[in-house]
Amino acid sequence: MTPKRWSLPVLVVVALALVLFVLRGLEHAPAPIVPAADRTSFSAERAYAHLRDLIGENVPHPAGSPAQREIGNRIIARLEALGLAPQVQEGLQCSTLAPGCSQVRNIIGMRQGSRDGPAMMITAHYDSVPGSAAAADDGAGVAAMLEIADLLAHREPLQHDVIFLFADAEESGLRGAMHFASQHPLMKRVAFIVNLEARGVSGPGAMFETGAGNEALIGLFGEVVPRPAANSLLFEVYRRMPNSTDFTIYSRAGVRGFNFAFSRGASLYHSERDDLAHLDLRSLQHQGESALAVLTGAGAVSLESLRSTRDASYVDVGTRALLAWPVNWNLPMALAALLLVAAIVCWRASLRAGQLVWALLAVGALLACLPLSGWLLSWPLGRWPGAHPLDHPYPWPGRIALIAMSLLVVLAIARWFGSRAGMRATLCVSWMLLGLLALALAFLMPGAAFLPLAPLIAFIVFVAATRTLLVAQIAGFVIAAWSGLYLFLLADVVLGFPSSHLKVLPLLLFALPLLPITMAWVDQGPARAATGILSCVVLAAAAAGALVPTHTVDRPRGVNLVHLQEEGKAPAWVLESFGDPGREVRHAMGFRRPMQPYLRYGVKPEMAYLKPAPPVDAAAPILTIEQDTIRAGTRHVRAILQSRRDAFLMMLALPDHAPIDSVRIEGQPVIAGAVDEPRVIGLHGLGNAPVRVEMTARAGVPLTLVLLDVATLKGKAEAAQLLRARPADAAPLQFGDQSIALRRTSL
Ligand SMILES: [Zn+2]
Repeated sequence: MTPKRWSLPVLVVVALALVLFVLRGLEHAPAPIVPAADRTSFSAERAYAHLRDLIGENVPHPAGSPAQREIGNRIIARLEALGLAPQVQEGLQCSTLAPGCSQVRNIIGMRQGSRDGPAMMITAHYDSVPGSAAAADDGAGVAAMLEIADLLAHREPLQHDVIFLFADAEESGLRGAMHFASQHPLMKRVAFIVNLEARGVSGPGAMFETGAGNEALIGLFGEVVPRPAANSLLFEVYRRMPNSTDFTIYSRAGVRGFNFAFSRGASLYHSERDDLAHLDLRSLQHQGESALAVLTGAGAVSLESLRSTRDASYVDVGTRALLAWPVNWNLPMALAALLLVAAIVCWRASLRAGQLVWALLAVGALLACLPLSGWLLSWPLGRWPGAHPLDHPYPWPGRIALIAMSLLVVLAIARWFGSRAGMRATLCVSWMLLGLLALALAFLMPGAAFLPLAPLIAFIVFVAATRTLLVAQIAGFVIAAWSGLYLFLLADVVLGFPSSHLKVLPLLLFALPLLPITMAWVDQGPARAATGILSCVVLAAAAAGALVPTHTVDRPRGVNLVHLQEEGKAPAWVLESFGDPGREVRHAMGFRRPMQPYLRYGVKPEMAYLKPAPPVDAAAPILTIEQDTIRAGTRHVRAILQSRRDAFLMMLALPDHAPIDSVRIEGQPVIAGAVDEPRVIGLHGLGNAPVRVEMTARAGVPLTLVLLDVATLKGKAEAAQLLRARPADAAPLQFGDQSIALRRTSL
């Protein structure tokens, strides 16, 4: 074997490995941690010390809980020490979307600017979900804010006032932000906002949302952020997901700014193990230094100048620089690229119709075989019960299997079709298809158009500069490898190995330009040996991917133990899991019977693992009717609802088609309109405080309500024994281990 015959496959593998090396920044925050002794820059070490002071007890602190009040008091003390004159905004905030109310206690500090006028705001939420100590979500954001407050307090003032909003009740429905936005007089002054969030415990602090008209904001971001992690595709993806953050509330109110989050280690998101030990300090450093940079940057210019009418397309280059251009350039660029490819590759080559047909078949086969091969690999890689869909503890064997498989598919198609289609015709069809993809994206998802545009531009520029098609093809392939692998790794946040048929699609970006290069090579190269090697890599990687554990102590599956006590019924243990809990967990905790039908919160039909439980001393909330009258065919009920055991959550659940037209809590609407599916009104953080409930219902129809409250399960006797039996690779998630006391009442 001569070196020349192997130069192409070696080049391809080296290029892919190099690109993966550059892209590793997508998985780990790129920022080196600044030590506490350095007083000039944002230091994750100091921020972490703040975090330890705040949540050192490592306990959950949902909105309204005593633990959260204590954390709030510590924040207030810190702001006082920095001379930021903290104020507290308290109240009950209700909403109809995800119906319910939260007891809110927002904490606000202010660093005066050198000029009057609009203000900037930085915000993070200091409540947690009931099952997590929330070191990352959003303790890291809170700690970063304290560090930034400290740094700014010891610097020359910025031009604009900086409002520090430590928001409450984000987890129960963005209600702290709602309360500030709708009630606080300072809201009118906010013209620029930075929100700090987390959807995992590690990864870069990516800027994933700005708001419409972001050209000037993106310009500022690229200029001032030392290690930018941002691209316009992230926002396109994010806005198609069901997630929202406090930023949503301000964005709807017309305020622009930057929304940051780190999102790797998603299986620890809202988990008991989102604790001090699992937070990646590099993420804290990266997010904090980026937030400080944009705040200082915006603090040096007029906030009016950050408003644009146009949007930008943008992408960071391995977090080293940010490329940005007006979004409306995408369409002409895609069109020009398409025409140039047609002229350079297709026009002058005097291709025969027969060749073009074979080339179309070859590319069609690639489009069909790639997802098919992904689907085949989804069986060994993604069929494990309860595996977290987005966070495999050992993702690399699976990733390598998918990448090697895509190369194998390219090689196989090149061997089958190469002699009939020929390199030139396939080159024409492949690059035209990339051009069409760029054109389609420029219309449909402009923020993503850069993915096919970048290799197209590289290809055209190299053709023009070198007049050598092969060099241009290789340059185009390298950039396409960057685009494809970038999207492939990024897609981890929304696609897991069970969806490998979709997960491989980004690899098309480099498989398309690779196909004609490979066709030129298979004639002379040792194609059979390469096929053998790639097949071995796919098999070995797939086997490794199938054998590595899908859960570990540091990437646990979410499993809660729930004690359910419904008045008039036998108490039950419920195994609440997020996905299949797996046999080991069920058997360890003694849930041996198959799933049974069960009504979550007394109204939502589900299947669950159940077993008998001992009764406990847990009384359901009481509803005291104060008034029940009928006026003009409508029934008006006024009542007082009260928990009796300091639950973190009290609920009023309405069965399917309950004859209710409206529900108001303390005068605020939570249900407006007919109930055509089971609805649950969640009242968060009220403790044993009574709340006034007003309902209107159809007269003459019997009305059944479900009253319940959810408290943290105290580990006594049998509960303690069951909790001890839970394997270490499983951990509480969201509400955590709970005790539910439930009662049905008919009015
Ligand atoms: Zn959060």
